[in-house]
Amino acid sequence: MDLKYERKNVYKQADGKELKKIYDFAEGYKDFLNNSKTERDAALTAKKLAEENGFKPFSFSEKLKAGDKRYFINRHKNVFLISVGTEDVSKDGVRIMVAHVDSPRLDLKPNPVFEESGLCYLKTHYYGGIKKYQWTAIPLALHGVVMLPGGKRQEVCVGEDENDPVFYITDILPHLGAEQAAKPLAKAIDGESLNAVIGGLPAVAEDGEEEKEAVKSQILRLLNQKYGITEVDFQCSELCFVPAGKARDVGFDKALISAYGHDDKVCAYPEMRAVFESNSKHTVIAVFADKEEVGSDGTTGMQSKVISDVIETVAASFKVNPIEVRYNSKCISADVTAAYDPAYSSVFEKRNTTFISCGAAVSKYTGARGKSSTNDADAEYMGWIRDIFDANGVTWQVGELGAIDQGGGGTVAKFIANLGIDTVDVGVPVLSMHAPYELISKADIYSLYLACLAFCK
Ligand code: MN
Ligand code: MN
Repeated sequence: MDLKYERKNVYKQADGKELKKIYDFAEGYKDFLNNSKTERDAALTAKKLAEENGFKPFSFSEKLKAGDKRYFINRHKNVFLISVGTEDVSKDGVRIMVAHVDSPRLDLKPNPVFEESGLCYLKTHYYGGIKKYQWTAIPLALHGVVMLPGGKRQEVCVGEDENDPVFYITDILPHLGAEQAAKPLAKAIDGESLNAVIGGLPAVAEDGEEEKEAVKSQILRLLNQKYGITEVDFQCSELCFVPAGKARDVGFDKALISAYGHDDKVCAYPEMRAVFESNSKHTVIAVFADKEEVGSDGTTGMQSKVISDVIETVAASFKVNPIEVRYNSKCISADVTAAYDPAYSSVFEKRNTTFISCGAAVSKYTGARGKSSTNDADAEYMGWIRDIFDANGVTWQVGELGAIDQGGGGTVAKFIANLGIDTVDVGVPVLSMHAPYELISKADIYSLYLACLAFCK
């Protein structure tokens, strides 16, 4: 019996066979991530993979039975994967795993197009918690959808193919940067200056007269030719800039992955794989949530009633009380946490933080200032989680998000727990969270995958 607790490094324990599994799993993840930069992209990818894995479209009016596999795409941005088990849901409840697939980014404003000093720009309004200075002087891609008059949806994705152009937000050169450099970091870049360059070629006027805003005119002409849109259509669109480019291995040993949007696709992918592969006797629901980065409000966020509606549909299928189903359900809120960063050690408390490559990160609670505004998994549920993880060889660790009063954060855990469902945060430790390119360990995403499989089993 180990009297003392010691955190374990996954890589240190892994033999050659295990290491191969870890690295192979990461390949599937990178592929998923490259096709899932926004919640809309992730929903489309999930739909495709769900269909390949035998899932059929879900309906609120259908009568589900054991063995049924269903997917529900809520308004293009929020995914429910439902695998109906053989256990009585009134006693066994449902096993819920929730990750979010929205990530911090730069949304376009409703009237985004303007010309200034020979360049055409799009104005942005940032989404989620970003450090604004990180979004200048990097290649950006534009993703999203525009509604044309009459209801046609026009998809847009520019900047991901290597032959595509990218977009770019300027920063001041250091030679003239003294004024900027004297400001606190949070004020160095103004939100209203996050305008992306989208063109610089003036239209040639047909009658020889010089055209006003000639670059903007030319860009609008190009957009109209390619997508059929006019300037006013931006008012009925959801377009955003995300960092361009693909997920990349990091390190000579390729132990890590740098990419945009690990938070929280690094949890969405393992929970999805677990629901595809587990063939559980339990009824399992895997959720891709939207709007987590801005408070989980609205039709596609986890504060909406949709999750309850799905559970009620399951309950109605077996003519059992939906309240009983909810109270007997269990949930993993699969979201990332901050990995210990030795470069910024003062904001962490080393004994109670998660470390990179030390396995799935369990957070009993999150919150800020004296555990405010958080779910807090009770000791009984923590004990249950420990037992299933240990019984299934899951490497896991516990941690808080930073030292006391250094800030804090939240996840969707509280919204599920508020329904009367035992919930705990289990995720992946991330370095440089919310940066355009975040860093995770292949060992940790693999550990979370094993944790999700254990939870479904
Ligand atoms: Mn997150
Ligand atoms: Mn986040």
